[in-house]
Amino acid sequence: MKSGDVPEGVDFADLERQIAYCAYCPKMCRFACPTALVRPSEALHPTGKATILWRLLKGATPVSRDVAEVLYRCTGCMLSRSFCDHEIQVYPPIERARMLALASGTAPNGVQEAMGSVHTWGNPFGGNLAEAFYQEVPPRWVQPEAQVLVFAGCATLEADPGVLAHLAAVLELLRIDTVGFLPPDPTCCGGICLDLGDEEGFRKAASALVPRLSSAKRILTLCPHCYYTLKARYGWLDSSLANRVEHVTEFLWRFLDRMQPVEGAVPEALLYHDPCYLGRHMGVFDQPRALLRKIVPQGGLLEFPRRGHRAECCGGGGGLPFSFPEEARAIAKRRLAGSPGPSPPAVVSACPWCTMMLREAHPQGVAMDLVTALARSICQ
Ligand code: SF4
Ligand code: SF4
Repeated sequence: MKSGDVPEGVDFADLERQIAYCAYCPKMCRFACPTALVRPSEALHPTGKATILWRLLKGATPVSRDVAEVLYRCTGCMLSRSFCDHEIQVYPPIERARMLALASGTAPNGVQEAMGSVHTWGNPFGGNLAEAFYQEVPPRWVQPEAQVLVFAGCATLEADPGVLAHLAAVLELLRIDTVGFLPPDPTCCGGICLDLGDEEGFRKAASALVPRLSSAKRILTLCPHCYYTLKARYGWLDSSLANRVEHVTEFLWRFLDRMQPVEGAVPEALLYHDPCYLGRHMGVFDQPRALLRKIVPQGGLLEFPRRGHRAECCGGGGGLPFSFPEEARAIAKRRLAGSPGPSPPAVVSACPWCTMMLREAHPQGVAMDLVTALARSICQ
């Protein structure tokens, strides 16, 4: 296949109507797109992206490097939808168009390298992430047959593996003995493969993971991207998963009454950042806040002015840290610049990608996962 050719079997004609809405829209959401805000360009606003998708759909443009550079500048954050009267999602057709870009060799180099790592190592970061799992998870918690199974996910293992030990400590303290951690084979749910246009990689990862989850009554994910993938993208393999998967904050929220926070164990004020995939994608806004309210003094839960459905993205989604890492970091800096007060206080999120991005954006500051904050507060 020559560069720019469209491979057979990838089609997004069913999304024609929503692409058309965007392509002919008077740019009602143009102020919202994080990728266009850090790299001002008409092509990067949702309307610009949709115009390119429209031209691809109509065969009016080949999948060139320039086209791929636009397609891969989207974090899948869905923020544009929060300002769209038609509630259009820009990301689904972008994901499909990325399949064309990856297959035609026009995807950015970082994307091709990440997908190479998936095929070599089973994760997009490269290296053996299983080591981090066994360093952090106490042996008695490694229980692949548990009724409630924790799937660690590759981003947690790469960016914030300590959260696994913190979760084990919280479960121990709360006397929840039905939970076990799934050994990390595979380490990746394959969601990042779909994000970056590798459907084959996604199907391979899903086919390896789903049989390992079949006997669990409930599956907990630490990463909202795994949550979204297992719940919304695995239906072709196991339709029961949609009702069995939840984010760890939803699970722990049921045990609020058992939590006894220790005064002074965490900063008095914690600023919550809504992960796009936990909030806008999966609708989980309240449970993380309830958990945080439990461990800070009254009034100590701080909010960004832009929060909930209108929360700004941290730059970690849609594979942007692989395709355009500098721009991903610039988005994270923008997010922190929108903190209340003169400088960002300790920031808490509930996603390893967010933690990674916010830490990188503010190396002198504190950015941690909610499970880590909980462990510090109640496991003294
Ligand atoms: S997402 Fe909605 S508001 Fe934004 S360009 Fe598309 S149609 Fe217009
Ligand atoms: S999903 Fe997010 S990054 Fe992508 S076009 Fe919409 S606002 Fe921009």
